[in-house]
Amino acid sequence: MVNIYNDTTKETECLFAAVQDDYYIIGPPEQAAVAWEKFCSLCKSSTGLKINRNKTQILLPTGSEGKELANEGLVLKRDWIPALGTILTRNDKTAEKWLVEESRKKHDKMFELLKDKKMPAQVAYILVRMSMAPSINFWLRTSNPSRTAKLAEEFDQKLLTAMTSILDLPHLEEVARKQLVMPISKGGFGIRSASLTAKPAWISAMAQAMRANYSLLLRGVHPTGKWVKNVEKTTNALKGLKMKTHLPIDGKVFWDTFGLHPAESGLQREITEAVLGEEQEKIYKQAERNGTDYARMVGLQCKESGLWLTAMPIHTLLRMRDVSFQLAARARLGVSLATGVKSCACGVELQSTPLHLLSCRHLVATMNLRHNKVLSTLLAIAGMTLVTARKEVTIDDEGRKRTDGLFVVKGKATMIDVSIICPTAKSYVKAARKSLGAALIREKQKIDKYDKEVKKHEMDFIPFVIETTGGMGGKAKRLIDQLMDEALANNATSFVPDRVDLFIKRAVAVAVQIGNGMVAQEGIRRARGRKWKGAISEVRGKVKKKERRRGPGGGGGVE
Ligand SMILES: [Zn+2]
Repeated sequence: MVNIYNDTTKETECLFAAVQDDYYIIGPPEQAAVAWEKFCSLCKSSTGLKINRNKTQILLPTGSEGKELANEGLVLKRDWIPALGTILTRNDKTAEKWLVEESRKKHDKMFELLKDKKMPAQVAYILVRMSMAPSINFWLRTSNPSRTAKLAEEFDQKLLTAMTSILDLPHLEEVARKQLVMPISKGGFGIRSASLTAKPAWISAMAQAMRANYSLLLRGVHPTGKWVKNVEKTTNALKGLKMKTHLPIDGKVFWDTFGLHPAESGLQREITEAVLGEEQEKIYKQAERNGTDYARMVGLQCKESGLWLTAMPIHTLLRMRDVSFQLAARARLGVSLATGVKSCACGVELQSTPLHLLSCRHLVATMNLRHNKVLSTLLAIAGMTLVTARKEVTIDDEGRKRTDGLFVVKGKATMIDVSIICPTAKSYVKAARKSLGAALIREKQKIDKYDKEVKKHEMDFIPFVIETTGGMGGKAKRLIDQLMDEALANNATSFVPDRVDLFIKRAVAVAVQIGNGMVAQEGIRRARGRKWKGAISEVRGKVKKKERRRGPGGGGGVE
């Protein structure tokens, strides 16, 4: 077909563009009519293909009646024609309306389905993040921001409504709404905001496609009018961002710069990241006014803090029930863990310290369950990876001191002690101004307590410290690496589709959040003054007074 395309426009003033099975002739009507006739005859003589005239549309230039093409049996249009999944039009209002309507047609049903309570929250969230949020990127790239503003606003509102329903969120303040659309690596939920993406998407698409535009539409002549205005409006809005690529603000300079040297792929990501970086700084500034908020935000910068969000529920160790998933989401956002509960049973006011429930001194027994949940996950992983392991091992002669477990890795016995600590608790909040500051304190405490004794037996000791926000202490990561090495050496990796260490980290991250959920639920029940019926209350009755005083066996940062 390439030869036919080339020959069609050869002796005319027309240009052509062909993308897969779509073919466009661009030029003045009388010239386009000549090219069209040639195209029809070439198709007939060399391919035998028949032209479907009903499907061939013509967008007439302003002031043209299209007489030249009127007798060809083609569809003449003054306002717009469809093109490659979007439309070509000179009318901004037409484009705006078309985009909003198409988006509704394409997405509304899915938005409704996502709110169905029968779908697990974890699954619904993954669907939103992976398929809904990126779905309008093509339109944001191919239509300028003033045309996509309404589409983006409406789409974002629907995303927020869906997320509120899936995560059972209360009404969110602006700062929490901003956090929701941050990337997971920046403490958010990876739900891309169309409004924030619109400008980076369009301007980067322009910068990348400029060479084609340069030769195709204006043949090197500088553009004027609306296009320049739109570019300058967008580059002005994006000026001052910290990024490597320079975006010329002047429309003509932009045209020449990228017309000669088109931007490489990845520009949209670069600009979007710079925009999000700026937004993140705003969130940080707001958080700085409140010590616990700041500790939470710093905690969420740890790479591992978002692993429970990216865990696919393909394995029992990676699955989260709705209530756990929803409470974990609330804790990540730093919003009230229970709507309508104003203060903890211990009297602490929850409005300004919603995460108090994860470290309340009165919930020590449930914190022990959280600790055990993580420990049993580690033991389960040991089982799956064929690593020899034992739970609770005594290390002194009197039998008073014991660690949480013993793992044989690289031929050596390694004692571990699991701690789940809360960086937003009063005792840690200062140290937690630095990433993993709280975890580091706890690691040191545990090494002081056990290391000497363990070494006497020529064994290793690893304090396995995880922050409630999900951050993992350096020593914990070391144990995970060792478990991965063992799994590979034992050829016991059939349970995991990709990286073994990531699987283990995700399983631990999920266990921590499930544990947090248990603690929070118990705290909420007590705050509401209801008796807890079931396993937890039985265990609670057995907690020794001594333990209540010194804090939970595996937990830390009790207040
Ligand atoms: Zn309390």
